[in-house]
Amino acid sequence: MTPRCPICKAPLAPRAENRAWPFCSARCRMVDLGRWLGEDYRFAGPVEPEAAHDTARGWAPQRVEPPDDEA
Ligand SMILES: [Zn+2]
Repeated sequence: MTPRCPICKAPLAPRAENRAWPFCSARCRMVDLGRWLGEDYRFAGPVEPEAAHDTARGWAPQRVEPPDDEA
């Protein structure tokens, strides 16, 4: 059985060769991370055009609050 990326469902490269495991690429890893960080899991509802656009171009993390905000 070939493991597949949970984000885009593409077959994964062997783990030893895949730094982004368990995702197919760094892009999918960031997509998943973005969701967990509060972008939210919106699969249960309608996909907003803005969110879909971000995902399509590789998810730029510009909406994540910088940790040194108070410094
Ligand atoms: Zn993927």
